[in-house]
Amino acid sequence: MRRRVAVLGAVVLVGVVSVAGPAGRQAERTLEVEQLEDNLFVLRGGGGNSAAFVTDGGVVLVDSKLAGWGQPLIDKVGELTPNPITIVINTHAHFDHVDGNVEFPASVDFVAHENTRPLMEENNAVRGLGRPARPSPFEADGGHGLPETTFSDRLVLGRGDDRVELHYFGRAHTGGDAWVVFPALGVMHAGDAFPGKNIPIMDSNNGGSGVDYPETLRKVSEGITGVERIITGHSSVMTPADLAEYAEFVGAFVSDAQAAQAAGASAADFAAGWEVPARFSGYNKGPAERLTPYVEDIYAATR
Ligand SMILES: [Zn+2]
Repeated sequence: MRRRVAVLGAVVLVGVVSVAGPAGRQAERTLEVEQLEDNLFVLRGGGGNSAAFVTDGGVVLVDSKLAGWGQPLIDKVGELTPNPITIVINTHAHFDHVDGNVEFPASVDFVAHENTRPLMEENNAVRGLGRPARPSPFEADGGHGLPETTFSDRLVLGRGDDRVELHYFGRAHTGGDAWVVFPALGVMHAGDAFPGKNIPIMDSNNGGSGVDYPETLRKVSEGITGVERIITGHSSVMTPADLAEYAEFVGAFVSDAQAAQAAGASAADFAAGWEVPARFSGYNKGPAERLTPYVEDIYAATR
């Protein structure tokens, strides 16, 4: 019998938090909750997927969503458990996973990979999104919300059933992608390094690498054991078999780009003409314009 988790009558709950919009009108900020275990929840909406892991010592939250979504996230977690949020882990530096940090109290310990903190401070535009970086929320309040606990290869938080492991396996989506494992539950949060079944953002402006991406994914597949379910950055919960297949999918895209380069094709022509190989069912290529800068980066790193 766990005393730390509120009893829930339904697996999926939908909650609505109303906040005043900039024009004084009410904007609804809705978070959808998927319960994976009695003490682990996925919270969707307002940016990347967040996870709330309820322990005796407090709630460990993974990713804090877009600006303005931190408080709705805090409120929603408050409906799930009376325990306070004590740790916020950021899987990487992108705005839709970190900007909510500033809405959390100073008592929270912010944790991220050692490359992620400087990237949050540098506030570089995301490669391929085609718009400048948004104003940084971390310049006010003496950097409140920036990670103060960082790690290089591996970090363990808590012990026993409350243990959380953070791993770094190299460059992929950014240069600071943390893989967050809840060993007692056999669950991992992959962040945007595994966003869903589509070509990922390969954000060279923030340390990411297309040519390194497949190998990093293979290292995760081989290096993480005991995990049965994977929380993706922006999609549904998937499996280790899905992750292994995703490594092959990204690998096929990168090696096909390298072959096209060797054959003299332009990056734009390759991006426009590439089709998802038939063996990858259910995958999306996305708009060719978005892929072109990633192909340009693969070409530049392969030359
Ligand atoms: Zn991202």
